[in-house]
Amino acid sequence: MSGGIYKCLSEIAGRITDNKDFLTELDRAIGDSDHGINMARGFSAVMEKVTPEDTDIGAALKKAGMALLSKVGGASGPLYGTAYMEAGKVLAGQTELTPENLKAAFEAAIAGIQKRGKAQRGEKTMLDAIIPAVEAYSQVIAAGVDMNTAMEAACSAAREGVEYTKTIIATKGRASYLGERSLGHQDPGATSALMTLEAIRDSLKE
Ligand code: ADP
Ligand code: MG
Repeated sequence: MSGGIYKCLSEIAGRITDNKDFLTELDRAIGDSDHGINMARGFSAVMEKVTPEDTDIGAALKKAGMALLSKVGGASGPLYGTAYMEAGKVLAGQTELTPENLKAAFEAAIAGIQKRGKAQRGEKTMLDAIIPAVEAYSQVIAAGVDMNTAMEAACSAAREGVEYTKTIIATKGRASYLGERSLGHQDPGATSALMTLEAIRDSLKE
């Protein structure tokens, strides 16, 4: 990752901000129309905290997690905040991403989201993008293939996961109040998770 963690977080912030209206539109259908607003607010707080001088990946992710926890209302703030904090713990003191430490960070992020939100795969949440993505990533790495290829596989799996959320009923979060009426709609959090993974993929490539 040539541009470092600052570059990576900037890439995520940019993608989320560019898609703010789209994410909010998705949340209008099955939630309360704030997911894009929440995420854009959170990432503007993240970009106020991190600087190009941040080279310790773990420390930067911790700052990002704290910014998300404190600035994002709604379910997604604490969940993404915890994900970044937990990934940051795994990467504390690291200045380079490797196939293995990135895998460990992804797994810690998932564990954090699940500990906080008590959701499983198949409940129409961000986990339906992230869990299959990390599984796909891990398979490619286990086969001895490089990180860029693994991130491509992760993004494809996350994209499929987002599509899958259209076919299932929400059983966690606000969308669960809709029951069957949540069918046919893609989950906003799964969509922002896909965007995050795509941003990580792109920042690794550069
Ligand atoms: P809120 O639902 O409080 O308005 P947001 O709109 O910002 O918060 O975020 C909604 C997204 O949060 C959902 O699309 C879903 O992906 C995710 N989410 C909600 N509850 C959970 C949970 N328990 N575990 C994982 N993700 C969840
Ligand atoms: Mg919402």
